[in-house]
Amino acid sequence: MAGQETPPESDASTAAGKASCRPSRRGWVYAGPAVGLMVGLFAGLADSGVLAQNVRDLITPRLLLENASFTLITYSTCGVVVCTAACVVGALAGRFRQRLRSRLEPRPLALAGFLALVPVLLVWIALRRSGLTPPRGLAAVAGSSVVWVIALVPLAWVCLRLGRTVIGRCLAPAPRIAVWPALVLLIASIGVQWQGRSRIQSPDGFWPIANAESSERPNDRPPDVVFIVMDTLRVDRLGCYGYPRPTSPHLDAFADDAVLFRWAISQSPWTVPSHACMFTGLYLSQYGLRSGWLDDRFVTLAEALRDRGYQTMALSNNRIVAPCVNLTQGFEQFAEPVGVLYPKCSLAYGLMRYALYGDRSFGPLLGKWLAYDAGGRTTAPIAARWLGARDRSRPFLLFCNYMETHGPYEPPSTYRRQFVQGADLDRSYRIDQSRSAGWLFSLAGEPIYSPRDLKILSDLYDARVRELDDYFADLMRVLAAEVDLDQTLVIVVSDHGENLGDHGMLGHQFSVHNTLLHVPLLIRWPRALRPTRVTRVVQTFDLFPTILDWTGARADPSTEILARSLATALQPTTQSVQRCAFSEYLHYPESQLRAVQQLVPGFDPSRWEATYQTVFDGQWKLIMRSSKHLELYDLLADPGETFDQGASQPKTTVRLLTQLKQWQQSYERYDPSQSSTPLDPRLDEERRQRLHELGYVQ
Ligand SMILES: [Zn+2]
Repeated sequence: MAGQETPPESDASTAAGKASCRPSRRGWVYAGPAVGLMVGLFAGLADSGVLAQNVRDLITPRLLLENASFTLITYSTCGVVVCTAACVVGALAGRFRQRLRSRLEPRPLALAGFLALVPVLLVWIALRRSGLTPPRGLAAVAGSSVVWVIALVPLAWVCLRLGRTVIGRCLAPAPRIAVWPALVLLIASIGVQWQGRSRIQSPDGFWPIANAESSERPNDRPPDVVFIVMDTLRVDRLGCYGYPRPTSPHLDAFADDAVLFRWAISQSPWTVPSHACMFTGLYLSQYGLRSGWLDDRFVTLAEALRDRGYQTMALSNNRIVAPCVNLTQGFEQFAEPVGVLYPKCSLAYGLMRYALYGDRSFGPLLGKWLAYDAGGRTTAPIAARWLGARDRSRPFLLFCNYMETHGPYEPPSTYRRQFVQGADLDRSYRIDQSRSAGWLFSLAGEPIYSPRDLKILSDLYDARVRELDDYFADLMRVLAAEVDLDQTLVIVVSDHGENLGDHGMLGHQFSVHNTLLHVPLLIRWPRALRPTRVTRVVQTFDLFPTILDWTGARADPSTEILARSLATALQPTTQSVQRCAFSEYLHYPESQLRAVQQLVPGFDPSRWEATYQTVFDGQWKLIMRSSKHLELYDLLADPGETFDQGASQPKTTVRLLTQLKQWQQSYERYDPSQSSTPLDPRLDEERRQRLHELGYVQ
């Protein structure tokens, strides 16, 4: 290494420090790695320092150590590669041009190369985030190359001049001295990453979890509430709902001790309206979602519980379950764990994120060692920190949204290896999971994915479910340490499912099939509920009155709540009335259709320009498309919704259509003109940006 650097070979170059000296061949060889290692480590420390400052209220020492080791490795690797490349270029240039040979020095040149890399990476990552496609993508690459040249020339000049000054000569031995401590730091960072790498947890001993705080709570104190949304989790991929693969051992153990709702139906097949329904007890048509924004005038679950005296905290890993959609009204505190360990602003994160998953040739190589997380890994430590600091004299509402099962499906390699067959592993890194590929496949029927590809995507999804299951176990262990679990209401639900090639589609737009609307729902509250399985149809927005009911909180009396407390569904059959479930899909992403139109000549978007309303009575499901076209499915005989029985079952069609019409007339529709709050343009832009990141808009 640089520490073993020998005097220059050429006699003419032994006058060290003189401007005319010629660096030795070995000097060129060692300068790149040595300088790259050190500037990389400095940059990594700076990046971690910025992180620690930005999220100082959330981060724990363990998370900071993980982040610092990640950034140190990433930057120093980049530094070594770039600085070495700069030295190679410099040495070759010196070989062919006599004038350059006497002027170029390896260390300043290596430093200039690294500094030039920073603006290039910033531009590149910004371009990848903005989702540019050819020919704009080509122009963007050309633009970033120009930035590279513009940045390199003055930086190289400054560095070369510095090398000829007194300061430069004083600093010259620094790489030789510092390279060994830097190497030690790098090896320690690799050790931290190795120790903290993802491992599949054994469910042995997970349940029952002992309570750390066996309670001396007064009986009249309302329960603490933990509301967990597992975003995009399909009900049929959980063991407790009959899935044969070992995707959910921890959730299965939890379900054995909870109330399991066999037929829970979401009120909408995608995130924002589904969450808004659960948070308000209203149907989508009732609150309207004006411009993607939940109107302030509707009282949310968090607001009702806050008024009841609860501390309210939301930990959201979904970028659009956030203030920019106004879904977080009523939460006194809000945090996004997904941005804590690897913040969006981090250059190291952006680099790895796009090198690993943006470039399919890098994927198999890097994926074995590195993975970024969707926030689940970070959620439990942040929850622990918040629970530890909370006011114990007050009950709390803790809301958590987990995003592991949301696309793209990128599990760490340990989970990937368990669920993807060995012969498919390499291919699993190369499958195009970009948004545009998904749209082209789903909307235009382009043959992008073979049956084998769809099987691999399904396997990757299962691996993500298993990973999520481990993060759920982490959270339950935190809860067991911090609260009395027997007196805590723990709810696990999904906002919607996911199409994984079902009905020729990927994702969760442009469809109201039960792959999206039928979701898992588990409730555990030992003080009041006995473990059981409920087969009646329930709706996820019923959670709103249910939680209010069990906590003694009150809804806004001026709003007509059509949801009903699940306490009713738990009563003996004779005392409860079978209810139908209604769902709506009213806002399709037009920009996706426009994007496909640009890519596929002759594509007709009219087939997809539709709204949907559905009614399900426990057996039959009627889908009404744009208030005209009807489809009828027998979900007990045909759970895949493959055979429309509208023609053979006219009576059932009429019965359900009547129920649908009666339901439509049973509530007052949202009138945007009555809204009291103007839309904030900044939040509007932020919402658009976040929707874009998740692939909902272009
Ligand atoms: Zn969602």
